[in-house]
Amino acid sequence: MLESLRRIVQEVNAARNLEQVLAIIVQRVKQAMAADVCSVYLADPVQQQYVLMATDGLNPKAVGTVRLNFNEGLVGVVGERAEPLNLDNAPDHPRYRFVAETGEERYHAFLGAPIIHHRQVLGVLVVRQRARRKFDENEETLLVTIAAQLAGGIAHAQASGGISGLHGNRASQGRAINGLPGAPGIGIGQALVIYPPSDLDAIPDRKTADSAAEIKLFEGAVSKVRLDIESLAARLRATLPEEDIALFDAYLHMLRGESLVGKTVARIKAGQWAPGALRDTILEHTRAFEAMGDAYLSERASDVRDLGLRILGYLQADARRQHDYPPHTVIVGEEVSATALAEVPKDRLAGVISVRGSSSSHVAILARAMGVPAVMGVTDLDVIHVDGREVVVDGYRGRLYIEPTTLVRTEYQRIAREEQALAAELSELRDLPAITSDGHRIPLYANTGLLSDITPTLNSGAEGIGLYRTEFPFMTRERFPGEEEQRVIYRQVLEAFHPRPVVLRTLDIGGDKSLPYFPIKEDNPFLGWRGIRISLDHPEIFIVQLRAMLRASQGLSNLHLLLPMVSTLAEVDDALILIKRAHAELLEAGEDIVMPKIGVMIEVPSAVYQADVIATRVDFLSVGSNDLTQYLLAVDRNNARVAGLYDALHPAVLRALMQVVEGAHRHKKPVSVCGEMAGDPAAALLLLGMGMDSLSMSVASLPRVKWMIRNFSRTEARRLLEQALALHDASDIRRHLQHALQQAGLGSLIRTG
Ligand code: PEP
Ligand code: MG
Repeated sequence: MLESLRRIVQEVNAARNLEQVLAIIVQRVKQAMAADVCSVYLADPVQQQYVLMATDGLNPKAVGTVRLNFNEGLVGVVGERAEPLNLDNAPDHPRYRFVAETGEERYHAFLGAPIIHHRQVLGVLVVRQRARRKFDENEETLLVTIAAQLAGGIAHAQASGGISGLHGNRASQGRAINGLPGAPGIGIGQALVIYPPSDLDAIPDRKTADSAAEIKLFEGAVSKVRLDIESLAARLRATLPEEDIALFDAYLHMLRGESLVGKTVARIKAGQWAPGALRDTILEHTRAFEAMGDAYLSERASDVRDLGLRILGYLQADARRQHDYPPHTVIVGEEVSATALAEVPKDRLAGVISVRGSSSSHVAILARAMGVPAVMGVTDLDVIHVDGREVVVDGYRGRLYIEPTTLVRTEYQRIAREEQALAAELSELRDLPAITSDGHRIPLYANTGLLSDITPTLNSGAEGIGLYRTEFPFMTRERFPGEEEQRVIYRQVLEAFHPRPVVLRTLDIGGDKSLPYFPIKEDNPFLGWRGIRISLDHPEIFIVQLRAMLRASQGLSNLHLLLPMVSTLAEVDDALILIKRAHAELLEAGEDIVMPKIGVMIEVPSAVYQADVIATRVDFLSVGSNDLTQYLLAVDRNNARVAGLYDALHPAVLRALMQVVEGAHRHKKPVSVCGEMAGDPAAALLLLGMGMDSLSMSVASLPRVKWMIRNFSRTEARRLLEQALALHDASDIRRHLQHALQQAGLGSLIRTG
């Protein structure tokens, strides 16, 4: 059984689309269980029906036409109960429903397993047998395991609109696909899939309007590979025996043959572009070889792949497929890089969608700096099927729509217009202070990490930099930057904002932020070697950074130092010793540098409980609510699967924040929040009520938070906080705050998408 499962999974993983996956599953499961029938029914939520999508054993004409209401038949029972149903004689069951079209009267035994993704029943996998018999436990678990594996693929295909026949090819229309918010804003445009070169599997589907030109390109690439192989063979002829040279003849034979060239050309004629057609042909061949399960033939599969890659190399080089960026380009990729983003002309870039990554990924931070909406961590998106299609990017909620319905598009266009109007209105607040209606002033600072951010940040009305993430200059290099190199970078930031304060955070690598030249491989990176832990273990790196920061501040005295990921008091003490030593050494060397203010990030639960004593050691505290939320709630901040559980308005987070404020203020030390929470107007209302002394956020959020602060009194904020604390659930708290914003006439700060 285990071997069958392994082989089925292997074959399924190699399949190109859901139709193939379903066909493989029904055939192989039927074989593995020696059953008479295996079928897959998928849910059509619009019609509230299960549709027969694939079968091996029933009448093939029934596929796509047989539909059962959700409450109908045994398939309905499996769906309702969301658990397997194993019957020796199905017709005895009170809910059994005879379906004539499938010709199923001959079958007695029935085993059905639900296909569930994120708690939602997407379909039912069924095996049937003529004989009366109960399927054994091994068979039942095999079916449940395969159904669980199938679920992700179905969700993927639904997200990309790839299930033909289920909803008339419109599966994704109007449906939201969830990811993580990467950069705020609404973008509507045409998807352009970017993918790594020399990777056949990553090539997206793309339609061609000019098949003749594509065929010419393809045939040109094939001729070049043929010439390469001929000259290779000629060169080796002198040194290799004739039978070894025969391998090259086999290659040449393939390059002339119908099966490789002819099939690819046929696919191009059917409308696919050359790289996509080549991809399908090569994968069809390799899959056929691999399925034969013979070591020699598996090797042939790798020969075919090698040929495919050679042809692809020429196709990509020859065609000089410069991206023809559509006027509103939404770049989409498995892992969009910051350079890919930077390559798109700014006036054509409407949005970014990345399957991997999160709001703290480099590309998301760059997108925020450029004011381009981004959705990250869209794990359910099957990238290769979205090229050229219209997409709506909702960077506020971290969701997207492929080929949106007119209703969805119109609604988002309306929101985008309102956004522009609001942004224009709010820009008038730029030079006004963030002051409550009862006269309480709360400075708003900006979070940044890129030098290119300086000008927009200066223009945003930020009263300083509340968090400069120094990881970015480290990430964009091939080695640790030297002291002088760092000093120049820090100096530019300190000078640009002088006399306003600038908080430079010491290196916070580890977790999800790794440096290409300093890889850290750990099972639990967020609980591992991160932030201050690395800096203290590598004083040679830490001291260089401290000296660079101190020297950069010469004559400016607006530098604040911030220590990330502190979890024990000893770390604070050890860091303070090194900072004082670096300062003393510089003074000794005759440099005139003022000792900066030093702060600690409160982003680990242990630091919350010791916030008061930490406050006695340093000048200020700054709450990293992004990490604090993840550590308090035990929810990975980058994992889209559990993103629904990640909410900084969770009552536990609010209580922790209050304890931090209380601890800092007991020792008359200021405390701020520099996590994303500070940029959410609803959450910021509570932070105001708690008595946070300042807030630091991405520049894009700043005008909204300022607008909110200027429209509330601190007394109201305190009252709302008290009411929020009486609620037990983050979603109730959010609703309560949104209601308050609406009542105050600030409803446009709430994005409902
Ligand atoms: C945080 O954790 O809230 C924070 C500001 O730091 P980072 O997002 O860089 O981890
Ligand atoms: Mg952090």
